Amino acid sequence: MRKPFVAGNWKMFKTVGEARQLVSEMVPGLQAVAEVEKVLCPPFTALLAVAALLEGTDIGLGAQNMHWELSGAYTGEISSAMLAELCQYVILGHSERRMYFGETDETVNRKVQVALKQGLTPIVCVGETLQENEAGQTAEVVSRQVRKGLAGVASAFDSSGNSSFVIAYEPVWAIGTGRAATASGAVDVIAGVIRPALSVLFDRPAAQAIRILYGGSVNGSNAAEFFAESEIDGALVGGACLKLADFTQIVRAAAR
Ligand code: PEP
Repeated sequence: MRKPFVAGNWKMFKTVGEARQLVSEMVPGLQAVAEVEKVLCPPFTALLAVAALLEGTDIGLGAQNMHWELSGAYTGEISSAMLAELCQYVILGHSERRMYFGETDETVNRKVQVALKQGLTPIVCVGETLQENEAGQTAEVVSRQVRKGLAGVASAFDSSGNSSFVIAYEPVWAIGTGRAATASGAVDVIAGVIRPALSVLFDRPAAQAIRILYGGSVNGSNAAEFFAESEIDGALVGGACLKLADFTQIVRAAAR
């Protein structure tokens, strides 16, 4: 059984004060859903404040990006070692990073390797653009992103036997557009492309144990349709994760 997983990607929203307020309001409702692994990914500037509020809860904390070097002359960047002091997860390869900041499968792979070495759990994002979708290239693009992004990763488990990373299938055309994929469309890619690609990289038990999320315009009203599918292990949520009622509803729905 794969434990359901819901992560909120706050993107570039919320000052420290606003983050404190939202998290204080969210904690009781999220903690009540013990069956779901829950992760909040605020901006770097709010990590320390949110970490303090999450202490003693079962809610995890993640960052939205990191550099692949441990330290160095990389102005404006944040390393895995810096993150490991504050959080347990890191989103890598989000389509907004690929689209606006030149992230490639190769840089995603370097980051994944370093995050794993540092004991962080990467949430690795893959997904096709609208143009690629319309050109019938979804399987090719997503399979390549999985194979290249995870190349050289020796094991899908950490030393405690827990799965060491999570994949988020996020069709780019569904992100922030209000136009979610259908649950069956997401399953086609998750079960038909992503899990088979994982089976090439890892042995069958490992490939079966890896959680694969759907992301793209998930909200409180449509989440249950996705989680009704046994192949969808949870969600990476953008816009709706900043809304208390929506995010709580999504987490509750993931408890199936
Ligand atoms: C995201 O940013 O990862 C995302 C899925 O955004 P949204 O839920 O707003 O589509």
